[in-house]
Amino acid sequence: MPEKPARIRYDCSKCPGYCCSYPRIEVKEADLRRLARHFSLTPEEAGRRFTRWYESDEGRERILRHNKDEIYGSICRFFDRKARRCTVYAARPDVCRDYPNGTRCGYYDFVSFERKHQDDPEFIPLS
Ligand code: SF4
Ligand code: SF4
Repeated sequence: MPEKPARIRYDCSKCPGYCCSYPRIEVKEADLRRLARHFSLTPEEAGRRFTRWYESDEGRERILRHNKDEIYGSICRFFDRKARRCTVYAARPDVCRDYPNGTRCGYYDFVSFERKHQDDPEFIPLS
């Protein structure tokens, strides 16, 4: 018998986009080509406009640039800070597609718990 698909237990439409505020959102070569196609740019141009290099002991990694954000301090440059959603959903990097790598999102559980306890469906816990 085919396995029943697991039920997703988070709803990004009710979240202010915490995962898009991660400082290191990796952009691999295939991600860069996808973004470049989306904006009709060359990968080199897309790399310059949308990404920067992050250096660590493990080497260097291409990551998405950020903008200032009034909720989290800073957030991915592709995030619409009014509508609180991704503006390049179809062209987003693989790491964004894979997150949160399961049927639950820890941040969503936390937000839902606090909203219930504060009796405020809009509440955003910050620490
Ligand atoms: S933090 Fe979780 S619920 Fe919020 S946008 Fe990211 S995946 Fe969705
Ligand atoms: S590309 Fe989209 S989904 Fe990925 S971090 Fe940026 S706004 Fe979020």
